[in-house]
This record gives sequence, C-alpha cells and structure tokens, in this order.
Amino acid sequence: MHKQIMAAVVFMTVMIMTIAAPCAVFGKEFSDVPITASYYKAVDRLSNDGVIQGRGDGVFGPSDNTTRAEFCAFLARANNFSETYTAVTLPFTDVKSGNWAESYISYCYSNGYVNGMSADTFSPSSNITCEQAVKMVVCASGVGDESLSNVGPKWYSGYLNVAKKYNLLDGVEVEVSKPATRAFVAQVVYNSMLVSGEDKTTVGDHAVDVGGNNSGKGTSSITSTGNTTASTGYEPEEIWEPSQEDAVWKYYQYYGEDYEQYMKEDEDSQTYTTPDSSSDDEDDIISSYVPKGSSDGILIAIDPGHNYNGVDTGATGNGLREQDITYYIAEKLKPELERNGFNVIMTRNSIKDNVSNESVSASLNRRAEIANRSGADLFVSIHCNAGGGTGIETYYCTGSETSKTFASFIQKNVVSEIGLRNRGVKSARYAVLRNTNMPALLLETAFIDTASDAAVLGDPDRQQAYAEAIAKGICEYMGVEYK
Ligand SMILES: [Zn+2]
Repeated sequence: MHKQIMAAVVFMTVMIMTIAAPCAVFGKEFSDVPITASYYKAVDRLSNDGVIQGRGDGVFGPSDNTTRAEFCAFLARANNFSETYTAVTLPFTDVKSGNWAESYISYCYSNGYVNGMSADTFSPSSNITCEQAVKMVVCASGVGDESLSNVGPKWYSGYLNVAKKYNLLDGVEVEVSKPATRAFVAQVVYNSMLVSGEDKTTVGDHAVDVGGNNSGKGTSSITSTGNTTASTGYEPEEIWEPSQEDAVWKYYQYYGEDYEQYMKEDEDSQTYTTPDSSSDDEDDIISSYVPKGSSDGILIAIDPGHNYNGVDTGATGNGLREQDITYYIAEKLKPELERNGFNVIMTRNSIKDNVSNESVSASLNRRAEIANRSGADLFVSIHCNAGGGTGIETYYCTGSETSKTFASFIQKNVVSEIGLRNRGVKSARYAVLRNTNMPALLLETAFIDTASDAAVLGDPDRQQAYAEAIAKGICEYMGVEYK
C-alpha cells in the first residue's frame, strides 16, 4: 500500500508550506539546501541554469522572501529572456527607467505574465505573495491568462485551480496573502518549466523529456519568440461551479492528490466513485499502441516498494510484510527481464536495503532519482494493496498518457496470469510516479490483508508468476518477443 493513502485526509484551500529540516547531506552548491529538501531539485536546476542565484557565502536563503521585481527576473530568465531584450515603456510610475529590474518587469508585463498592482503602480520592492507568484507562473506556462481573474470568488481562485491541475503546485503549499519564500518561488518556477515542456534533462546517454511526461498539461505551442502561447485543454467554465461556495475546494478534490486518496479510502462506501477504466478501454489502448520493437539498450528501473525497516515500511497482513513481498517479486523480475535482453536497475539492492531512512518522502524521491539519474527508460514500482479488498490494480501518473498505456499492458498481463479480480488501470499522483521522467507505473499486486490474496502473495511460485507477467507486459509494450 502506498504511504500516502494511509495519511490522514485533510482538505485545504489554504495550506502552509513545509520546509524539510536540514540534515547531514547537503546540496552541491548551497549549504542550506539539503539534498533531501523537497525543493532541492528545483534550486539545483534553476541555479545551474542561471535563473536564480544564491545569497552569497554558499547559502540560498530558502526561507527568505522574494520581491516582485526579483520574481520577474526569475520568471523572465526561466522563459527565454535575453540580455539583448529592449524594455518597453511601462505604465508604472514606481518602476523608474534604469531600475535594475526594468527589463525583467517589462518582459513579464509585455508577455502577459503580470499586471501591476494598479494601472500605474507595480510595487517592485514589495514581497511577492504566494498567489501572485502562482498567477504569474500560470500565465508564463501558457495554461491560463488574465481572464482567470474573473473565475471564482477571489481574483486568484481561477489561477490556483489551474495551477493545481497542471501540477504547478507540486511540492509547495499556498498560503494566500503570505510572502512567497525563495524555496516556494524556485519550486513553482521549476514546475512551470516542466509544464511548458522546455525541460530537457540529459541523463547519461538518454535525453529525457521531463515536460512531456508526467505533467497533465494541455497542448501548447511555441511562438516565434520562443514563448509558450495559451494552451488548449483548459476551459474555466467546465470546472467552475458558481453556485458552490466551496467550488475551489471541490476542484482540488477532483484533480488533486487528496481526492485520489479520498476516493480510495471511500471506495467501499460508494460515496465517491473512481473513474474506473474499463477493460475495453485498456484493450483499445493496447491495440492502438505501436511498440518500439527492441529491448536493445533499454534500461528498466524496478522499484520494490517500501523499506526493510525504519521509515516507509509497508503494509502488513496474514503474517506477511509488504516490503518483503515487493522485493521477492522484484528479484524474480530482474532475471526475467535480463533474459529478454533488457538492462535492469533496482532501487533496492538487497531485501534489507533501505533506500533512505531520512523520511518517507526522501525514500520515495530517492527512488525516482535513481531511475532518473540512471537514464532508465521504464519505471516499475511494485506494491501490495491493503485496506480490505481483492484484486490487482495499476497506477500511472495523472495526466501521462504514455504511462497509462504502459500501465495498461502490465495490468492486462498480470490479471491474465494471476487471475485475481481486475480492479483496472487508475491514475494517482504518487511521488514515484510524478517525479520520474520516464513512463512509470505502480502495481498493486494484491491485498496483503485479505487472506485469499495474501495466500497468492506469499507463495514463491505465484511471486514468480507475477514476475513473468510483468516481464511479459514489458516485452509486449516494447514489442519484444517474450522468451
Ligand atoms: Zn505500498
């Protein structure tokens, strides 16, 4: 079972950003940005790209505030700003000609990322608030524009909704009207780079298109100036229910992680129904897919869910521990894949390997990082379900059609081989799915706390059957004949 499912379910429109406590491992550049920090990747990337700099003396100042002028500089640099850009005449009396940030503010203003505080004031030295920053990244990402100001009870309601939908709030929590910290700013600007599809990370020999995978974005196009234009795929009126006072909250439920969790928790009570993919749908996906035709040079990351002990241990039931079962299946899957010509990397190298014992999120993030850094082509996370139920389900990251296709192949093969109930292919925004750069899935093999399912999970022959079924699914997905 995924840890996030077990977490208390709390719905909030106003949330407080959490910052990981410093620990022994620090980032390569900033002494106050530990590698375990949720915003580490964002800061690392943005500082390497020259989008955002440190505060000097090797510190980044993640908890410091950001002025509106500074934010314009970050956002402009993240969106193809050129030093040769010539500022337009701004209507703001408080942005004097020659101000260090004039060209950045001009760039953001003329590209529609920002308006002033009023027709003639910009307040460049004021701290930017969380919702102001979100509005600007929504506009800069091309997933919304000024018209969103009219959607919802507050000027920012529409922006928050859209930001949530397009994963712009990944790793941050918005506290309305509070200053955005530098960690917050780094994270949302980084998220916006992923949404606008410009993030090409080269890992080893593999060029990985981060933006094209796990973000639920609409289609955007690149203009001659290199900026993303408004995307299709978002219609405010489709999601807004003006008669509902808590419509923002409902929308969060519908698109956000909390809703996914809530649906799962409440599956039996039928209060909410999971938008379940029918097997017909999966068959259609599979039949329309064109496989690549070779396992040559293809690297598969196998992620045996959970740690042996410490943080992030798995579910238990019927004398079994999830973290052991997932490893048993994974260690059987590895040779199956190798026999079929694939290369394999495991996120746990032995049954006792704890990926990270800093925290659950550090453990999950490290798994994704292992896959990303190794340049893996596919990611398979193996888990056992819990909560009283039966059957097999496969998750892909909400919004990733590629991963959905991959998941459909695995689900079909595992159900056919194991014979337990087909619970379908489902979407969720689990950390290992949303933080991996390649087609990724999370297989819930069966329910460890249901005796009949546990009997399957605990049987080494059936574990082998799972391994073969997953390998067959991967071969089929890749267009390789299973040996
Ligand atoms: Zn699990």
